[in-house]
Amino acid sequence: MKDVIVVGSGFGGLAQAALLAKDGHKVRVFEKNEQPGGRASVYSEKGYTFDMGPSWYLMPDVFERYFQGFGKRPSELFDLVRLDPSYRIFFGDQKQVDISSELEANYALFDTLEEGGGDKLRTYLDESREKYDVAIKELLYRDYNKLTDFLDRRLLAQGRKLHLFENLDSFVNKHFTSDEAKKIVEYSVGFLGGSPKNTPSFYHIMSHIDFNLGVWYPRGGMREIAAKMVELCEDMGVEFRYNEPVTRLEFEGRRVKGVVTPQGSYSADIVVMNADYAHSELELVDPKHRSYSERYWEKRVLAPSAMVAYLGVNRKVEQLVHHNLFLDEDWANGFEAIFDRNNHKWPDTPSYYVNVPSRTDPTAAPDGCDTLFVLIPLSPGLEDTPELREAFYDRIMGDLERKLGTDIRSSIEVKRIFALNDFKERYNAYEGTALGLSHTLGQTALFRPVHRSKKADNLYYTGHYCHPGIGVPMVLISSQIVRDLIAKGTKGA
Ligand SMILES: Cc1cc2nc3c(=O)[nH]c(=O)nc-3n(C[C@H](O)[C@H](O)[C@H](O)COP(=O)(O)OP(=O)(O)OC[C@H]3O[C@@H](n4cnc5c(N)ncnc54)[C@H](O)[C@@H]3O)c2cc1C
Repeated sequence: MKDVIVVGSGFGGLAQAALLAKDGHKVRVFEKNEQPGGRASVYSEKGYTFDMGPSWYLMPDVFERYFQGFGKRPSELFDLVRLDPSYRIFFGDQKQVDISSELEANYALFDTLEEGGGDKLRTYLDESREKYDVAIKELLYRDYNKLTDFLDRRLLAQGRKLHLFENLDSFVNKHFTSDEAKKIVEYSVGFLGGSPKNTPSFYHIMSHIDFNLGVWYPRGGMREIAAKMVELCEDMGVEFRYNEPVTRLEFEGRRVKGVVTPQGSYSADIVVMNADYAHSELELVDPKHRSYSERYWEKRVLAPSAMVAYLGVNRKVEQLVHHNLFLDEDWANGFEAIFDRNNHKWPDTPSYYVNVPSRTDPTAAPDGCDTLFVLIPLSPGLEDTPELREAFYDRIMGDLERKLGTDIRSSIEVKRIFALNDFKERYNAYEGTALGLSHTLGQTALFRPVHRSKKADNLYYTGHYCHPGIGVPMVLISSQIVRDLIAKGTKGA
């Protein structure tokens, strides 16, 4: 039994604490904020409740596998609803389509978008399912230390099939011709913090996740998952210390001795960092104990930041379903602009996403009202001022109202805006990134920051910066990898 400190109570930290407590370790979690969940924090005002971050429950198989480790099923812990439609897409001013939970309806939809569209989607999803199976069996649940781990013979054999060296955009162009069909199978790169051009085509597994595995919602919100994980941890004796940021890690040779907070110093046999990786390294660790230099971080392709408006609307906005995507006609350039480090600006006509949890969940808003979450991806590192936010908010809301043909701003009784500076302040997010590191080829698997420190044998990292990457299911996997590393007590899987 070891004394373990987990720094951060995002999904990565919660998953880690539960796994290590189950293995018999004594676990303490230090969290800088007042509540658990990290990016999945909760904000409530005047009867409106907002999940501040994740809202799509994807990859239900990964949640099943995680909770199975505790002898539980997600459906016993929270009430899971499969959304139908899965989501609605608005294409510019012209057209809107619903993606159904029924495959046949989606094939029929694709037939209306282009000649043979339904059959093309069938083929595309078959390939996507095949790659997803490889990913789950061979790629996601393992650690990588050296090139040969990534390119072992089995994986090399699969590698050709995985189209690792082609980008998603080029891959999709070989399958579909219409602008709409392409956008439908490409939009999900947003979940990976990338663009169709900088994301390997392998990630078209997202379409299997989306169309075949489905889009789900845990009634009560994503916060229900965090709450249930905290319960699980507490049942196994995990101690949570909120409002207690770690300000320094202390070392002795190749070992981390413990952590320092404003309240005191705490020793540990093992420390797992779930706090922002770049922040942990650059601000909590002295240079000689860092796995990566400052320059390393400067050269990473960061996933987008965002501006999110949390809006309590005192009526129903009937034109919206649970998930709504507003895709700009010029979205390709919009994507590229987000990743263009030399051209940082607040975009003129961005694509954006509107989540309405009250459509499925009466507890999210007072009777007859709607809870809206409007998210617009932005370049990390942008200047962020109240004036820039307000002007941008007005532009986006004007666009939304025009597209829906209804005034919303006059019905708003709760409004909170959260943007780059808030990501930095609340989560210590490097450059205000909302999602961490993009999934470019150079930042996939072996090329993501290590789970186990290169400089201290008992210091580990979990969360969205590490393999397998961004998203709640992914960070659950990241923590399972770290748990296995700790259990083995050796480098590598
Ligand atoms: C707006 C938004 C929407 C998203 N939508 C989805 C979605 O629909 N579906 C999905 O699956 N994923 C979504 N994601 C991604 C997903 O939320 C993240 O990938 C995941 O939650 C990251 O978890 P984590 O544990 O790695 O990091 P975090 O959630 O950031 O947790 C890190 C924790 O460390 C704490 N911390 C930081 N510094 C310190 C310190 N010095 N001391 C102590 N504690 C510290 C932070 O406060 C935080 O609680 C979304 C993210 C955002 C921001």
